[in-house]
Amino acid sequence: MSGHVRALPDQIDTCDRCGMRARLRVLLDRGGELYFCGHHARKYRAALQLVALSMDDIPASGVAAAARFR
Ligand SMILES: [Zn+2]
Repeated sequence: MSGHVRALPDQIDTCDRCGMRARLRVLLDRGGELYFCGHHARKYRAALQLVALSMDDIPASGVAAAARFR
């Protein structure tokens, strides 16, 4: 069987508030996901912790390395 390999596209999640690159993924207690950039993650973190099932930081893959490039 070839199997179904779910090839995840190189999708960049963006902040639900401002459209910037998401740095925090929030799984909601009632289902669903929210994404926030660093700014909005800080702004809403306290409130999110009340409704979040889990909160995951999204590493800025590639960006961190690029930012160090000098
Ligand atoms: Zn944002």
